[in-house]
Amino acid sequence: MIIPFNKIHYTGNEKEYIEDALKNECISGDQKYTEIVQSFLRDKVCANNILMTTSATHALEISALLIELNEGDEVIMPSYTFPSTANAVMLRGAKPVFAEVREDTLNIDPADIESKITNRTKAIIPVHYAGISCDMDLIMKLSRQYNLYVIEDAAQGVNAMYKNRYLGTIGDFGCYSFHSTKNYVSGEGGAILINLCERKIIDRSEVVRQKGTNRKNFLRGEVDKYSWTDIGSSYTPSDILMALLYAQLEDMENITQKRKYLFEYYSKALTKYVNLGKIKYISSIPNYCKSNYYIFYIIFEDEIVRDRVIHKLKEKGISAYTHFVPLHQSHMGRKLGYNEGDFKITESAAKGIVRLPLYTDMTESEIEYVISNLESILKEI
Ligand SMILES: *Cc1c(COP(=O)(O)O)cnc(C)c1O
Repeated sequence: MIIPFNKIHYTGNEKEYIEDALKNECISGDQKYTEIVQSFLRDKVCANNILMTTSATHALEISALLIELNEGDEVIMPSYTFPSTANAVMLRGAKPVFAEVREDTLNIDPADIESKITNRTKAIIPVHYAGISCDMDLIMKLSRQYNLYVIEDAAQGVNAMYKNRYLGTIGDFGCYSFHSTKNYVSGEGGAILINLCERKIIDRSEVVRQKGTNRKNFLRGEVDKYSWTDIGSSYTPSDILMALLYAQLEDMENITQKRKYLFEYYSKALTKYVNLGKIKYISSIPNYCKSNYYIFYIIFEDEIVRDRVIHKLKEKGISAYTHFVPLHQSHMGRKLGYNEGDFKITESAAKGIVRLPLYTDMTESEIEYVISNLESILKEI
């Protein structure tokens, strides 16, 4: 049997909506389907302001522009994240400051955030890893205490919750991804949530997203021509992609339920290997969270065992992957002055982690095949 790591789930309505977009000449940004998905998501997560973007990467970049991040400013984030989190900060000439993660969730450790705060710190970017929320009460408390912005990197956290609130709606900004590797996809795509009530920032978000122009005011008939009013870039997604996304969002709960079933299947089968000491950790959901079941991971004691397990699974046709190279250990991280050993928990998790195949249309016989092969491998090690 061949088990890919991920497989795109189509709901069946994608083609119809894309054809409708083509027929109506809705192929550039901010047309029918962009409006539809924007209001769908706004209602779904109870967002004050949400704008669709070309990616989560771009949503992070917009946030950095909106908080007027400048040279000399510092932004605290976990080292255990995707490069986009740090790039958004670097592109403004500011400095990413890495912090350690918690062993049980691989999310940023609020205690370590506090130790990294200086008078140059302007923001915190908590990253919700694997669809599991960061400790948002503690992070929001720190942000109020030190007057810092909070930008949630909820690229992996769409439709997941922290204590009855959707991820992305808790901090000042939230960034979503609809990349084809995530749960609900448009291929490339994202959204920015602006939860602040400052009119100036909300108005500016539309300008920044529209190439630094007041085109939005023009479309609303508020001005008779539009022009350059601020810095900005091209962050509006094509309506064709938003048509695809609408078909996905309509099926959001079904997708989530199917993933929940698979996640619990793995969890039930593999918990005993933690008790036996064969596996150090497996994905678990703290009781303050509702997950979207984006990733199921297992963590081994060391890299040699981990690599052997991945290799042996591969021999059986099963694709299982490691995950992030911690940013402080990357080429760029070293250029920023970080060294091996700076974040022990992050390093050990990155060395031991294996993400198991998990995709919406995975069948029971497929997941059984993964589990039974993994079990025989675990018996040998
Ligand atoms: C996927 C991901 C991103 C980037 O999302 P895009 O939509 O592909 O730009 C950023 N941060 C994290 C944590 C991610 O997992």
